[in-house]
Amino acid sequence: MGRSPRGGRAGSRLIPRIVRYSLAVSGHPLAAKLFLCLMENEIAATIGESLQQLSLSRQSERGDIGGQLMAVSTTVLRELHRLHSQLSDLRERLGRGPRRVQAHDTNVARQQAALASARENVQQTKKIVDSKQLDLGTGENKILDLKAKLNGCGSNKEYQMLLEQIAASEMANSVRADEILEAMEKVDQLEVSVAEQKALLSTAEKELASCRDAVAAEASVIEGDIGRLEGELTAADQELPADFKIDYRRVIQAKGADGMAEAEDGVCQGCGYQITLNMQTELMLSKPIFCKACGCLLYMAAAESDVGG
Ligand SMILES: [Zn+2]
Repeated sequence: MGRSPRGGRAGSRLIPRIVRYSLAVSGHPLAAKLFLCLMENEIAATIGESLQQLSLSRQSERGDIGGQLMAVSTTVLRELHRLHSQLSDLRERLGRGPRRVQAHDTNVARQQAALASARENVQQTKKIVDSKQLDLGTGENKILDLKAKLNGCGSNKEYQMLLEQIAASEMANSVRADEILEAMEKVDQLEVSVAEQKALLSTAEKELASCRDAVAAEASVIEGDIGRLEGELTAADQELPADFKIDYRRVIQAKGADGMAEAEDGVCQGCGYQITLNMQTELMLSKPIFCKACGCLLYMAAAESDVGG
């Protein structure tokens, strides 16, 4: 779609002028109507030209882009914006992959720590069982000693004392035996939780492996897409006027795909700023303009630019 709607206007104006003149002099009623119609067309054309000149002179005043007449195809801008947006999406997806793997890595490490801690609990409880069993043995030996002393006992009072000591030692050992049983039950429970932790770790490791595979497969597809889009971007980039590329690259470097926005119904779609009538005129003339609020490089919305030719 060419962006020089007024190109042949000056030359073609001569013909309607001759027709208009000859019809006007003929005095026919239809001639007057036709004359008005031709006038309207010419006024519209003149207004268009005036707007263009106004815009050009403003641009020169501002020193924009060397004040040169420079049109940038809306189609090219829209294509560039599409490519930048898609590339930015793809790069974000590519960056998300390692983060997903990282999350599974962290989960595996957590399960490994939980398993180690469950195993440690079993070991500690088993140590308690061993130590109490040792005490139990010592207590039993003590009871045997006391019972042996009963036979060689000289007085009734000493005999009673020995009996009391034996009873106390037996009571202490009975408590130890209960504690040992309790600790052994605890070991059994802790071993069940070790088995559970092993299963959880195994699941986490499988999930990590399958996530790694999926991310690697996805990355190769995404990288292929990125390569293709970068090629298209380079091609589209070459269609930009050389003088304009500096401004374009500055905004893209600063904001990426968010550095460009459609202007729809005179509103910057990047920030919602209502652009001025002058800016709208420049847009219609395919002049590159930047949103005064957010700095986006603006181009006309698809529906509007189709209507505008
Ligand atoms: Zn804006």
